[in-house]
Amino acid sequence: MMQYDVIIVGGGMVGASLACALSGQGLRIAIVEAVRPGVRDEPGYDERAITLAYGTKRIFDGLQLWDQLADAATPIHRIHVSDRGHFGMTRMERSEEGLPALGYVVPARVIGQVLTDAVAAREDIDYLCPARVTAVSRSGDEVHVDIIQDEKPETLRARLLVAADGANSAIREQFGIDTVESDYGQTAIVTNVTPQLPHRNIAYERFTDTGPLAVLPMTEQRCAVVWTVASDRADEVMALDDAAFLAGLQERFGYRLGRLEQVGRRQAWPLKLLQATESVRERLALVGNAAHTLHPIAGQGFNLGARDIAVLAEVLVEAVHRGEDPGALEVLNRYGDWRQADHQRVTVFTDGLARLFTLPLPALGVARTAGMLALDLLPPAKRLFTRMTMGRAGKIPKLARGLPL
Ligand SMILES: Cc1cc2nc3c(=O)[nH]c(=O)nc-3n(C[C@H](O)[C@H](O)[C@H](O)COP(=O)(O)OP(=O)(O)OC[C@H]3O[C@@H](n4cnc5c(N)ncnc54)[C@H](O)[C@@H]3O)c2cc1C
Repeated sequence: MMQYDVIIVGGGMVGASLACALSGQGLRIAIVEAVRPGVRDEPGYDERAITLAYGTKRIFDGLQLWDQLADAATPIHRIHVSDRGHFGMTRMERSEEGLPALGYVVPARVIGQVLTDAVAAREDIDYLCPARVTAVSRSGDEVHVDIIQDEKPETLRARLLVAADGANSAIREQFGIDTVESDYGQTAIVTNVTPQLPHRNIAYERFTDTGPLAVLPMTEQRCAVVWTVASDRADEVMALDDAAFLAGLQERFGYRLGRLEQVGRRQAWPLKLLQATESVRERLALVGNAAHTLHPIAGQGFNLGARDIAVLAEVLVEAVHRGEDPGALEVLNRYGDWRQADHQRVTVFTDGLARLFTLPLPALGVARTAGMLALDLLPPAKRLFTRMTMGRAGKIPKLARGLPL
């Protein structure tokens, strides 16, 4: 039996970031990840471009990983929000926040590579991959995790198990934690395009009657596209040839960037909202998509998960330094309580935005226009929106302030 302090199931962006945050603190850490890095259908690190909030950039600073990400990161200087066929429009500027950028767009694959390399280089982390969890049980002050790696069964023991195994978390299910879920009936089609005109570091969020459309600045003057369509139309849009796809996208987005000239590989993501009803149990903590899976409308999912790991790592390291048991419910409740308000605020905000801007009822069109105008005209409302999308609302953990644990 292999003995650890913390076992993290799931080595996606959130699980691997947590391992890096806990590394160097005198803990033995295991990551159990099912899919080998670099495999084309690896679920965590794919074709998507991820918008990292300014606070998440600070977390990567704190993890000493930002320098490795910086070359692939495109800063967002301005966010331009508009409603197709309606009057409302609003802009957010980095100068209003006094920051170098409102956020950064980084390919998920690059984040994955940087995290996987970092995990492999740390001696206090065992990266067990490809390995699958077959059973979990609690025994006294420990949790036992049965895995199969290279067709060989193995049992791992630890004081704390962290579920970072994504939206369909098997660990969450094994602990009998309920979820509240609702299907948006929408699918996000993700790709990148090369427009005729330079993007000038502007992120566009365009609300259309079939769903939101985000066009985000990337390196080499490409733009990442997240085009949300009704799920019953997704197969049809995915099957379009490149010219027809670009024409459809152009019709939705308009000509702010001139003609959209080239398009990359496409991927489709059915969208649902999921909230776990509990984020901790004795010996268990949930982080990232295992705890909350959001509509990607405002690019909040990973940012929320990054704040989970910043808080969990801070709570655990403080507990260990005080001689407390990191898997004790009393310790884990500090994490759960701290994260509750942020989870609630971002979930309600994202879900509200997704519903307000995707239902095509005329009355909602008026509400949308009014909402957008209010956002533009009322500095406090806009400021809260900006702070939230940048991950700067609420009590901020040390790592997100660039401080060591
Ligand atoms: C279209 C789209 C665009 C998005 N854009 C943004 C954005 O711009 N900004 C943002 O902040 N967020 C964005 N998100 C959300 C973000 O992608 C997720 O929040 C984030 O990837 C969640 O990471 P995770 O590590 O929690 O889960 P996952 O990425 O799902 O990783 C879970 C990992 O666990 C492994 N695993 C699962 N089960 C087991 C098991 N039993 N044993 C071992 N391993 C297991 C999986 O192989 C996987 O590697 C977007 C999401 C979508 C769909």
